[in-house]
Amino acid sequence: MQNKVIEQFDSCVMGTYGRFPVVMETGEDRLATALDGKEYIDFGSGIGTNSLGFCDESWVEAVCEQAKKIQHTSNYYYTKVQADFAKKLCDETGYKKVFFGNSGAEANECAIKLARKYSFDKYGKGRHTIITLVNSFHGRTIATLSATGQDVFHNYFFPFVEGFKYAKANDIDDLMEKLDDTVCAIMVEFVQGEGGVIPLDKEFVDEIVKLCKEKDILFIADEVQTGIGRTAKLLASEHYGVKPNVTTLAKGLAGGMPIGACVADESCCDVLSKSTHGSTFGGNPIACAGGLAVLNKVCAEGFMAELSKKADYLWEKLSQIDAVEKVSGKGLMIGMNLKGKSAADVCKACLDEGLLVLTAKEKLRLLPPLTITYEEIDKGIEILKKVLA
Ligand SMILES: *Cc1c(COP(=O)(O)O)cnc(C)c1O
Repeated sequence: MQNKVIEQFDSCVMGTYGRFPVVMETGEDRLATALDGKEYIDFGSGIGTNSLGFCDESWVEAVCEQAKKIQHTSNYYYTKVQADFAKKLCDETGYKKVFFGNSGAEANECAIKLARKYSFDKYGKGRHTIITLVNSFHGRTIATLSATGQDVFHNYFFPFVEGFKYAKANDIDDLMEKLDDTVCAIMVEFVQGEGGVIPLDKEFVDEIVKLCKEKDILFIADEVQTGIGRTAKLLASEHYGVKPNVTTLAKGLAGGMPIGACVADESCCDVLSKSTHGSTFGGNPIACAGGLAVLNKVCAEGFMAELSKKADYLWEKLSQIDAVEKVSGKGLMIGMNLKGKSAADVCKACLDEGLLVLTAKEKLRLLPPLTITYEEIDKGIEILKKVLA
């Protein structure tokens, strides 16, 4: 049965992913079940998306109720659920306004357009460059690929979008060198995700904040992966005690429903005015209902403190494994260098043993659901130990 599905799938879906030969059929909390009945403990949350695990009860109810009420209207009208979700998102993150798209790349496209127009409105043409970081990842559209500071992504699809420069992470001198009069924004991930789960230094972030203030440049944080509790804070910016002008969110925001959000502070929340940006599906009521269910849970009293404790527990367990050379990241966003083992091989071996993990460059990457239990952590660790032994 599985093989038949895979054959049919591969015959008519473009081969843009290296997929494992498993057909996922159902999920419950932190457990996925494949078509052949095999069960898997989820240490990947899909890919950082299913923040409440599979089919969380409150989330399912919110999404289903909304699907029964109204599934979509054009953005020429209002919906209550988008108003409620936007209010909750702004209140909890401390931002003034939000634009909704459908993905991380779209959230970043919005931030890029916002930064360029912010500068155009104030200073006119020519101030359009966005500095991003070497080893960053910002998405797969042409503009966000252009923003992505990894040469491997700058291939085939020429010409790329002009106006991006790449500065080395945690290297203030290199950043200063790139910072000329054409720059309108600096965009960073606080913890580079796809680049290998590498956090920025506090001094580097502080310097960005200072430079942005001095030169009236917008500070954009791509929190598509780090946001909404992933690092054991609602936003990773809280670890650094800073507030970027613009933050982008997506992956875990609506618990597995497709959504992207670009939130902006008072200085720039009205830059994108009527007809300057849009998205047919952006702010879809069902996605917003899923997002509201996620925020209601993640922002509830005590949730983040508990999450933080579980993350500490997981870090301690991981660092005790002999084959683990180094653990990096923050909270439940974890990268691991392995001694003498390839992360890709370990990922495959974990799958065979019933544990879903991810990789990022040469590292093994874990993004467990924010709702994971101690018992599930222990089970996952046992499998990981076995595979690494
Ligand atoms: C995943 C990711 C994106 C792209 O998100 P999509 O939803 O795939 O478009 C952008 N930035 C970061 C930091 C990501 O991790």
